[in-house]
Amino acid sequence: MAVDDQQEQRARLVRQISARGITSPRVLWAMGQIPREEFVPPSCRSEAYEDRPLSIGWGQTISQPSIVALMTEYLAPEPHHRILEIGTGSGYQTAILALLSGEVVTVERYPTLAFSAAKRLAKLGIQNVHFLWGDGTLGWPEGAPFDRILVTAAAPHLPHPLFAQLAECGYLVIPIGSRSEQTLYRVRKIDNRPAWESVVTCRFVPLIGQFGWSEEGAVD
Ligand code: SAM
Repeated sequence: MAVDDQQEQRARLVRQISARGITSPRVLWAMGQIPREEFVPPSCRSEAYEDRPLSIGWGQTISQPSIVALMTEYLAPEPHHRILEIGTGSGYQTAILALLSGEVVTVERYPTLAFSAAKRLAKLGIQNVHFLWGDGTLGWPEGAPFDRILVTAAAPHLPHPLFAQLAECGYLVIPIGSRSEQTLYRVRKIDNRPAWESVVTCRFVPLIGQFGWSEEGAVD
């Protein structure tokens, strides 16, 4: 794909996302900056600007651009924020968050995905991200509190270590529900208690870990 084509496709994607109701100029700007074709396998490059999830190996997916934009809009990152992201995947959402905040700590369960994502962001010159691998349902207590926490995989319930690591007045955005369908929630910490706001129904791959789903199945 020629550079002009990529820019045009990105601009078209931003128009589509905007038509789907994303209004934050900062989010739309960031979505227009990141080359999604760098985050998908070479065999899917021609589909990089379609608004749908794509397989990235290990049974995982790069999220649909419009859901990345929606989650980012609800997260409302500011330039001085420190963000914890659980579920790095390809690193596409991570790159968007990095453009809109001061620092991102991202945790991925599969080291291979974490390494590939780190390489992609380094290639793009993005330097304000720390990559960790392991069970993200435990969060990263050493780095707490975080102004914002984003979970990009589907949880059976709100993992309490993550809520504990959220700063007072901070937002945590997370899909919660069954393995097959969830509701995306924005949770705000007010006086150390969660205030819930439901956003949209959605479908994510499961969050596997101590405070998520078991590897084999059925928590609900
Ligand atoms: N937003 C990502 C992107 O743009 O490529 C896609 C994230 S993908 C839908 C969800 C990711 O969460 C997968 O890479 C999966 O391996 C990861 N994951 C699942 N359970 C996890 C856990 N306990 N800790 C960290 N990562 C986890």
